Amino acid sequence: MAFKELVFSGVQPTGNLHLGNYLGAIVKFVALQQRCTCIYCVVDLHALTQPLAVWGGPKELARNTREVTAAYLAAGIDPKKNIVFNQSQVHEHAELAWIFNCVARMGWLGRMTQFKDKAGKDRENASVGLFSYPTLMAADILVYRATHVPVGEDQKQHLELSRDIAQKFNNDFAESIAAAGFGNAFFPLPEPLIQGPATRVMSLRDGTKKMSKSDPSDYSRINLTDDADAIAQKIRKAKTDPEPLPSEEKGLGPRPEADNLVGLYAALADLTKAAVLKQFGGGQFSTFKTALADLAVAKLGPIGAEMKRLSADAAYIDSVLADGAVRAEQLAADTMGSVKDIVGFIRH
Ligand code: ATP
Ligand code: MG
Repeated sequence: MAFKELVFSGVQPTGNLHLGNYLGAIVKFVALQQRCTCIYCVVDLHALTQPLAVWGGPKELARNTREVTAAYLAAGIDPKKNIVFNQSQVHEHAELAWIFNCVARMGWLGRMTQFKDKAGKDRENASVGLFSYPTLMAADILVYRATHVPVGEDQKQHLELSRDIAQKFNNDFAESIAAAGFGNAFFPLPEPLIQGPATRVMSLRDGTKKMSKSDPSDYSRINLTDDADAIAQKIRKAKTDPEPLPSEEKGLGPRPEADNLVGLYAALADLTKAAVLKQFGGGQFSTFKTALADLAVAKLGPIGAEMKRLSADAAYIDSVLADGAVRAEQLAADTMGSVKDIVGFIRH
């Protein structure tokens, strides 16, 4: 069965929106709105999977939800043409996630590296929600029967799991899917969109660790709301090695910190890494870091300023989210009604 092209993605309102979220996800969201209908969600139910100290409690959650929304708008997402809303306003996400909890297998979830990384050594103390996070993510996407999902590289494994869940649902209920008139597949197998030189932006302190909202060190990341001085200082202090920059891309292979900074420049300037090295190869890091800081300030400065302006207008942000939620709900309710028929739940 052919599915209509539809893009879905989300960002957690866990604070400290950073350059990795921007280059790995939000920039892609903006570009895709030219191509088709897009649904961009602030995934507040996901935020609760982490310890309360990470998501910050009720006041912080509301503040961060508005801040992610402001980032979407400041980056250029049009909330009229697309659907922008926060996940908890559309209860079908949680409802479909329950069904997917019963479709997915413990073994599948047990292999997820995000759970292992975030739970750390103290797994017994991790929330059940953190373990089942990928089933909610599958529901977020599939409740709209979305076909394409722009994400950073770290979410690739969860996308594969979403495909496995969609496939198993299609197989388990094949007979009633056909009987309900949906042919041989009710859910599409959603495709990840992971492209470009900054699909996995690394920490500025450690080139082997992903830049993350929840990293305790603020020097590990560039926040979208950082001012010019903070951006320049963080880039100046970013970990590097003593060698000059290589002239060829293969020279970046064993040098994760250099590779990361060159990738950031490439993504911000819309160049390839090879083109960046053509310009800066053989030079010292200090020269390159100054150019990178200037570029980052030029690109992020206006977005940060617009985010702050929009975040101050809570009534406007809330109206965008409410309008998006009403439109999302219509689509989600339609899918959920069919899912109930397919599974065999009686409904009025
Ligand atoms: P947390 O630590 O709370 O999980 P996060 O920084 O991973 O926060 P998410 O809200 O989980 O942010 O992810 C939002 C989007 O940003 C996802 O598409 C994710 O793949 C992408 N993303 C997150 N970190 C990076 C990164 N370092 N580089 C590229 N993309 C990233
Ligand atoms: Mg994450």
